[in-house]
Amino acid sequence: MASELGYEIAEPVAVSANGAGTDTEAEAPTEEATKEVLFEEDDPSALQPRAPIVTVMGHVDHGKTSLLDAIRTTEVAAGERGGITQHIGASEVDKDGRRVVFLDTPGHEAFTAMRARGARVTDIAVVVVAADDGVMPQTLEAIHHARAARVPIIIALNKIDKPDANPDRVKTELSEANVIVEEYGGDTPLVPVSAKTRVGLDELLEMILLVADLQELTANPRRNAVGTIVEAQLDKGRGPVATAIVQTGTLRVGDVIVVGETFGKVRALENSAGKRVTKAGPSSAVVVLGLAEVPQAGDILRVVADEREARTMVEARRAQTAARGGEGSGRATLEDLYRQIQTGQAKELRIILKADVSGSLGAITHALEQLSSDEVRINVLHEAAGDITDNDIMLATASNAIVVGFNTKITETARRAADAEGVDVRTYDIIYKLTDDIDAALKGLLEPEIVEVIEGRAEVRQVIRIGKGTVIAGSYVTDGRIVRGGARVWRGGKVVATDRIESLRRFRDDVREVATGFECGIGLASFHDVQEGDVIECYTTQTISRAVPA
Ligand code: GDP
Repeated sequence: MASELGYEIAEPVAVSANGAGTDTEAEAPTEEATKEVLFEEDDPSALQPRAPIVTVMGHVDHGKTSLLDAIRTTEVAAGERGGITQHIGASEVDKDGRRVVFLDTPGHEAFTAMRARGARVTDIAVVVVAADDGVMPQTLEAIHHARAARVPIIIALNKIDKPDANPDRVKTELSEANVIVEEYGGDTPLVPVSAKTRVGLDELLEMILLVADLQELTANPRRNAVGTIVEAQLDKGRGPVATAIVQTGTLRVGDVIVVGETFGKVRALENSAGKRVTKAGPSSAVVVLGLAEVPQAGDILRVVADEREARTMVEARRAQTAARGGEGSGRATLEDLYRQIQTGQAKELRIILKADVSGSLGAITHALEQLSSDEVRINVLHEAAGDITDNDIMLATASNAIVVGFNTKITETARRAADAEGVDVRTYDIIYKLTDDIDAALKGLLEPEIVEVIEGRAEVRQVIRIGKGTVIAGSYVTDGRIVRGGARVWRGGKVVATDRIESLRRFRDDVREVATGFECGIGLASFHDVQEGDVIECYTTQTISRAVPA
């Protein structure tokens, strides 16, 4: 599979640190595309340590925004930059002379949307859990999203200033979600914090740096920059304004860049404190001016040799998008996955499971996991009670997973997203049907459904016999249209023959179809006993992939 960048997908790269991704064998192929680009030409001796890029996720109201704000004001208080920085979608914090880059859009939606577009920006996920509220549905979602991306997790146990804070309960709940904190013998760090009283902020930053050290994050500052857009908008005075995270290389004023399907020459760069700079090295957040159009969050930025190369690349990408029908990128359906499994390209079937009540989740997951074999493993990436939402579709897109719903429905926007992205969504109301279908898919037995579509009917008004055995039914189309294909002959409310329309003529011309209200001559393939007053009903068959949900 070639990526949007035109690179072949490499073998999955091993990812270290604290258990992230222990439940996923291979990474979403889209991410490999970014990695491939990032490291394609880097000779190890050119690599230098770089700052970690962090995303803050967690349940609503658990304090993501407050925590980010508190961390940022630490920086302001330190007098490094002073004043309130403009919102650019990312910020940089200094801790003991080392930088940490935070993506400012809290929540996993942005994180997953970017992953879905092939961008891998985040090195560490800070999952915020309110100590008084505990592990909630979006906490689990955040954990699953981080794991699917194989990004190490740090738990920020927030609101510990509250009298009803119950850290032990949270730790136990985390264990139930297979996140075992260090104190309980696992490898996920947990830092108690309070965004309100500012307790633990230093410790959290220290932990981020420690986890970053374990990952040995490096990049080559002496090469053409590659980065990812995290935010972009049209500014009245300045034109398209995009915030990029430079991941490797150094971006300079004057560089020619290709971003998604647009390009331009870097006219100016501003750092996260709003100051003009002439260059931006690895792991820096920088506002880029000079693009011709507004790119999308998740678009990859790449420095190229000159405008000609840029133009060629953009044209090729646009053509590719057009060829794909504008959207989506042919995500896996169960049938595709089966093929990939057969050819050894895929070793696991990833599933996002939604059910009406949480009680059924465990049972279904268990039943599904029983289907795992030596060749292919069933991996339920995320399970939760509730409707199938956009988030599930995004996670599926980013992780090359299918979405399975049990006694649950899909929201309208999620349906549209699934159609656009080509995500396979299946809903069931009987568990064994669900498991049978998945089992069948794994064994390659999932036959497409063949449906018959009645195209139209014609009344026989005159029977014409020409030569030996050739019978033409001179007919009048009463409804729909008559086309060549399957046909049934009705007489007195009964089907007297099932046949095929072999010839179809209007006057002397062979025609492909005849509409209501017109006369035509119909020649059937084998039934020669057609009579005046018979009704010929014609139908076509359509193969419906069973990927289409019931
Ligand atoms: P988000 O939805 O996760 O971004 O949560 P917010 O940052 O908006 O915080 C939700 C609420 O919790 C707000 O009323 C905050 O003031 C409050 N809050 C956030 N962090 C703390 C904390 O450490 N202690 C206390 N007591 N309240 C907090």
